[in-house]
Amino acid sequence: MDYATNATINITEFKELKSMKPKKSIKSYIYERDGRRCRFCTKRLQFHQASLDHYLPRSKGGTNDIFNLILSCKKCNKLKKSSIPADFEQVMIELFKIGIRDGVIKASLHQFSSDEIQSIVQNVDRVEAINSHVVFQGKNYRLYVKENRIVKIIHLGTQPHTSV
Ligand SMILES: [Zn+2]
Repeated sequence: MDYATNATINITEFKELKSMKPKKSIKSYIYERDGRRCRFCTKRLQFHQASLDHYLPRSKGGTNDIFNLILSCKKCNKLKKSSIPADFEQVMIELFKIGIRDGVIKASLHQFSSDEIQSIVQNVDRVEAINSHVVFQGKNYRLYVKENRIVKIIHLGTQPHTSV
């Protein structure tokens, strides 16, 4: 195969990538992020063998955010069913930080620069709540996340007592 042919194929692949449904590109991202291995049994997976699993199950309030989706083989996905992994908070925090670093979780908040957002996110150490938003917290900041986007950051120190 000569270079010209290769280039044509690459352009076609690129177009396919751009027209892919969001769900499929999310799977591609998670496939690479999780090292092409099942997160539970560490088995290496072909793309078509891999499935996405809600780490905190939907039935237990888990969201479709990219930090709650992990790569799993079909066997482990079935075995896990709707049990709650003991470390789901740590995993969500870790994957949230990776998602910010990789740019798949967005933040467009005019009051913070992207550097400030990066440093606020790096200090996140707990999951405060999971309801209409996933709420992360660290140091004096509380972050509200919905659909892979930080929609609000509150600096707790500046909140007047009356609004709490
Ligand atoms: Zn597995």
